[in-house]
Amino acid sequence: MIDFMTIKDSVSVPDAAEYYGIDTRHDMCRCIFHEDRHPSMKLFPKNYYCFGCGAHGDVIDLVQAIFNEKPVDAAKRINADFGLGLDTGQPPDRDKIKRIRQQQLERKQFREWDAAAFRTVNEYHRLLEDWEKAYAPKSPDMPPDPLFLESLNNKDHVDYLLDILTYGTDDEKRDLREEVSRIEQRLQEYHAGDAHMAS
Ligand SMILES: [Zn+2]
Repeated sequence: MIDFMTIKDSVSVPDAAEYYGIDTRHDMCRCIFHEDRHPSMKLFPKNYYCFGCGAHGDVIDLVQAIFNEKPVDAAKRINADFGLGLDTGQPPDRDKIKRIRQQQLERKQFREWDAAAFRTVNEYHRLLEDWEKAYAPKSPDMPPDPLFLESLNNKDHVDYLLDILTYGTDDEKRDLREEVSRIEQRLQEYHAGDAHMAS
């Protein structure tokens, strides 16, 4: 017999949500109990609460709802997936718990990178749009401004990067790591130049 209290004490609501594939940011996610277009469910360590429909419960309620199963099956599932060892009388599987924690950390770090990457590329995209207008040559015989050229050369591609960061899969986003850090560097250079000129 699996002790529900021990399950609730061992696995937090945000950890279970992440593990079972619910997209969470800053402990908010889209509610699984109503049509939720923007995240309105808050995940606390021991509970969840939806500001849209009022749904609330603990980690077992959540997993039960995700898989549409009985509480006892949800408890068994958590016990097995998180290596708690409650049904076998064996001590918890430390390696498995460590591995799960590591995966969770990696997912969390990826989400943070993902949010920062979008901000970076979005900022660069806005700058390119500004440069295209502000530095357009006034006459055909004027040499074009480097910022204008940079905009012409990069805008379509940066558009495409933004698309992936908005609609792409996690793997597609991961492939952009190097490019995003190059853009980050470019922005730093640009802002450093700005500061230099202003002083
Ligand atoms: Zn809801």
